[in-house]
Amino acid sequence: EGKERLQKVIAQAGLASRRGAEELITTGRVEVNQETVRTLGTKVGPHDHVSVDGVPIEGREKLVYYLLNKPRGVVTTNHDEKNRHTVVDLLSDVSQRVYSVGRLDYDTTGALLLTNDGTLANELMHPKKRVNKAYLAKVKGLASEEQIQPLRQGVVIDGRKTAPAKVAISRWDHTKNTSMITITIHEGRNHQVKEMLAKVGLPVIKLTRQRYAFLDLVGLQPGEYRPLKHDEIKRLK
Ligand code: URA
Repeated sequence: EGKERLQKVIAQAGLASRRGAEELITTGRVEVNQETVRTLGTKVGPHDHVSVDGVPIEGREKLVYYLLNKPRGVVTTNHDEKNRHTVVDLLSDVSQRVYSVGRLDYDTTGALLLTNDGTLANELMHPKKRVNKAYLAKVKGLASEEQIQPLRQGVVIDGRKTAPAKVAISRWDHTKNTSMITITIHEGRNHQVKEMLAKVGLPVIKLTRQRYAFLDLVGLQPGEYRPLKHDEIKRLK
């Protein structure tokens, strides 16, 4: 799964022929993750760090970044034990092995970042980074200001208080007895928005992530995706 023989990796980088690469390995000139490797046939993955004579082999897999408008009915894991469709299945013309940055529920739609840049993904998911995620929720009932006020201070979920959220009522549907709520959080706990709204008596019927950091859904229908622009990647870092 994405792993290749060390001599092939060296040869593909243009440093030597396959035979020459074998010799570089057996003579102790090759390091994998800062350790000399003399065994032919050692396998390395895209994230292993390979160097020859102390010089790193760069760009073994091109780093790619995509923004997907996740549709309903797909999971955000790469391998689902129930064999449901995953977001990765949707990126039909992407050959790199990408991972989603965080998760959206099976029935949640909206902005989801996918990349093979593990360093950036980990940084973005770190709580310290406080990446804002803006959601639009359709909830049951006619929400009131008093009802949503506690979300601005934080509510206790699973014994822990949530960080203050930005929250507003955007409209009511009196005939259907539902409301639209916009809510922005920077944490990423499991089912967090649904739990927060349920806590104040507003069960979520439908949830869309409208923005991840500064990335919105303009031009993307559910199921559609686009590569990030160079300056967007820079802004995320
Ligand atoms: N909060 C939720 O409850 N579900 C999501 O998918 C994302 C945030």
